Amino acid sequence: NAPFAPASLDALRADLAAKSRQLFIGGEFVDAASGETFEVVDPATGKVFASAASGGREDIDRAVKAARGAFDGWAATPPSQRARLLLRLADLIEREGERIALTETLDNGMPFMMAKFAAVMGAADALRYNAGWATKITGETMQVSWPGEWQAMSLREPVGVVGAVVPWNFPFVMAVAKIAPALAAGCTVILKPAEQTPLSAALLAELVAEAGFPAGSVNIVTGFGETAGAALVDHPHVDKVSFTGSTSVGKAIVRASTGNLKRVTLELGGKSPTMIFADADLAKAIPAAAMGIFGNAGQVCAAGSRLFVHERVYDEVIEGISERARTLRVGAGLVPGTEMGPLVSQEQLDRVLGYVASGMDEGAAVGVGGSRIEGEGYFVQPTVLTGTASGMKVVEEEIFGPVLCAMRFGDDDLEGIAASANASEYGLSSAIWTRDLSTALKLAKRVRAGTVRINGGGGVDPAMPLGGYKQSGWGRENGRAGVEAYTELKAVTIGL
Ligand code: NAD
Repeated sequence: NAPFAPASLDALRADLAAKSRQLFIGGEFVDAASGETFEVVDPATGKVFASAASGGREDIDRAVKAARGAFDGWAATPPSQRARLLLRLADLIEREGERIALTETLDNGMPFMMAKFAAVMGAADALRYNAGWATKITGETMQVSWPGEWQAMSLREPVGVVGAVVPWNFPFVMAVAKIAPALAAGCTVILKPAEQTPLSAALLAELVAEAGFPAGSVNIVTGFGETAGAALVDHPHVDKVSFTGSTSVGKAIVRASTGNLKRVTLELGGKSPTMIFADADLAKAIPAAAMGIFGNAGQVCAAGSRLFVHERVYDEVIEGISERARTLRVGAGLVPGTEMGPLVSQEQLDRVLGYVASGMDEGAAVGVGGSRIEGEGYFVQPTVLTGTASGMKVVEEEIFGPVLCAMRFGDDDLEGIAASANASEYGLSSAIWTRDLSTALKLAKRVRAGTVRINGGGGVDPAMPLGGYKQSGWGRENGRAGVEAYTELKAVTIGL
């Protein structure tokens, strides 16, 4: 009773085994100039099941030429027509929802139902939301104080050719969440998916072609970060880079972008705090805090990885989260009922286990979990570390795995709680659980993070700005700010 047709999975597997995924440049599916491909591993088995073209500098160069060539025409395309194509792509994504979600699960490991909701519905929503913006991007009129009579206004124009670099944790929706506002604003795009998860981007290329976007408006170059990625972010004819990934690569991209002073937006790592007060609705807070760190095996930029609980309810909360960890169904994403899949790669598995070991070295205790699940695939147990404190590596650094660091706080000293929450170089997200509205809002104002969730797990919505304070990034995706990040602002004055 799988939620997908087994025949679709067999057909997809056979197709992936039979042919390597190609690059999509200037509306054509092509091999890498070098002819090279790389292998793609199923994280649930650790086995190679597909391959993709390994793009390099020459391919990026061709893709940038194609995007430049398409830019004037796309920027001049009536906004309503741009919107129509985005809406068409959303429909095609829904039509191919099962194939996309299966691809995402095979490639990334996430549970199939999560792939359906996060990848397919999330991508369709992002396209429909940004399709609306295509016809609503506006400048303003202003009053100037110069002598004489003037008409002054600002115009928003597409920034140009955009390089979009995305990570492996939500490959499809992240790719679409960058392409959609860029295209709505009139930009053309070169997408570089993560080397761990190139497959759903190849599927996206097929659908972009079918939707009828002009050749060159969207180009997709799979390949490695140090080759294809690096060639894209230092390319002199790329006007803007939109990057999601680690803070260290984000900094490298800033350095690489200085040649032509590209516009750069960055969605980077996080170490987000969840704060649970004694008066919170624990029946809701406990499962939300658990899934806030165990969802997608903790491979979520906004994962609630630092937990602060009031001492009066600390034991009850930790026991509740630990119970959820013990009973969570961990397994291959394609197995019906799986709640947590594997980590994406051997490298990520080693990294996460290394952090657990370092936590123990520094005096933390493993409340639950802490080990690899033996057998094939990159599975790790959902883990709760107790006795953690600021200064420990596990509390300071982003683990990007299902590892929660639990800490307690005493009587409601808001400034102290805010200081603990803010004691991080990151500032991406946060969650507050209390029935006291005043406490919640006072804390919401004091937390230095791009998102504050009060009394709810919530998710990402294309209407809500997404991004980080401090080293969690530059700029915002989604919402008005997200689409305006793909524009330049021009001042125009007319002497009357
Ligand atoms: P990563 O930074 O290693 O890789 C991300 C992407 O950058 C990949 O496509 C990779 O090929 C590319 N890349 C690597 N080196 C490059 C270079 N020198 N030049 C250009 N491109 C390069 O990150 P990852 O390990 O794949 O992803 C996990 C990280 O991403 C975590 O730190 C996580 O917090 C972060 N993340 C942030 C958000 C967010 O919205 N803030 C969302 C998801 C993931």
